[in-house]
Amino acid sequence: MMIKTIDLVKVFRTDEIETVALNKVNFVVKDGEFVSIMGPSGCGKSTLLNILGLLDNPTGGEFYLYGNEVSKYSEKKRTNLRKGNIGFVFQSFNLIDELNVYENVELPLLYLKISSSERKKKVMDVLDRMQIAHRRKHFPQQLSGGQQQRVAISRAVVTKPKLILADEPTGNLDSANGEEVMNLLTELNNEGTTIIMVTHSAIDAEKAHRIVQLFDGHIITENIKNQKF
Ligand code: ADP
Ligand code: MG
Repeated sequence: MMIKTIDLVKVFRTDEIETVALNKVNFVVKDGEFVSIMGPSGCGKSTLLNILGLLDNPTGGEFYLYGNEVSKYSEKKRTNLRKGNIGFVFQSFNLIDELNVYENVELPLLYLKISSSERKKKVMDVLDRMQIAHRRKHFPQQLSGGQQQRVAISRAVVTKPKLILADEPTGNLDSANGEEVMNLLTELNNEGTTIIMVTHSAIDAEKAHRIVQLFDGHIITENIKNQKF
């Protein structure tokens, strides 16, 4: 089992205001699954994704990653576990403006202290695959939205992570570019990468094996699209 949460809770406290973002989420994801998460704005989708991706800790409940209870890990421990194992794709691309395409994609490999010849091979392989290699010396603002998202996906997959978390990856794209991004995610899933994707698009959500509906911090329904799992 890749992911299992038991009664996962996340409460944000700022001054006197308390927000219960997640209220007892029970969620299981198997290796190789592709799961879509849908739900209204503010229902806790990004919060859940951030916790599953070890960017943040829950405030209650249990979170098992490959059988290890990771919910109380320190930030340092979370970062170490995340590196190379989990790739993120966001709606806003999150590329570094001062770095060119090649350098943006190389970044996760630098954190892993991979040798320069090995880095070059891995970066060029993924840029070729994402059909963006010819733009490797360009900077993010010189690219279209679709190209920027391809670079962001390249960066997310360059370490060959087992898990990709995508938070509204097509949210800022027109339909043609969005479709291309969905095709890339589906391809990666077909090669064995587990994908958890938040989306507002019912059409994109249908590409997954399963659609999970979140409402007010908890899962209300699960709709199985594909009997593989
Ligand atoms: P969604 O992604 O489904 O739109 P979020 O997970 O971003 O929703 O947010 C869920 C709830 O938690 C919202 O009410 C939001 O305002 C609140 N929230 C999210 N992040 C924080 C934070 N860092 N501090 C305080 N409240 C937050
Ligand atoms: Mg969100």
